[in-house]
Amino acid sequence: MSVHAWSISLDDREKLIQGAFEAKKGSYSPYSKFPVGAALLATDGTIIKGANVENASYGGTICAERTAIVKAVSDGKRSFIGLAIVTDVASPISPCGLCRQVIREFCSLNMPVLLVPGDYPQPLQEGEERKAGITEGGVRETTLGELLPYSFGPEHLDLPRQ
Ligand SMILES: [Zn+2]
Repeated sequence: MSVHAWSISLDDREKLIQGAFEAKKGSYSPYSKFPVGAALLATDGTIIKGANVENASYGGTICAERTAIVKAVSDGKRSFIGLAIVTDVASPISPCGLCRQVIREFCSLNMPVLLVPGDYPQPLQEGEERKAGITEGGVRETTLGELLPYSFGPEHLDLPRQ
């Protein structure tokens, strides 16, 4: 198990998690019936919420994570300190590959990403231990860098070329 240098407080952690649950209420997912909520914490302290918005053409569907990023960025927020994602599934669910790349455009590789189970907070039974990488309430705490290793980002376009 890797060790993280967390840059968010317990208060911010809870703010992000509750923000993700709030965000999920805005989901438009009549086709997949898989509502997702995402909450981004900006460096100015605001929480930006996003939900998945599906489309009858399927390909027009936008995930919760990208909804949150696009809302934030188009509102002038470009700097973030954390992201939380929640679904109705009783275990942590990861962002899709496309969303990971979009998150990569605006967030640092060591930014905390909280994958929250739909039944958060999951209690621990007497004598039970959490699985590796699972923290308080059943949350998987990871980072963008773990989700998207060896990634390509904006800085690579600045590299000298032949
Ligand atoms: Zn996605």
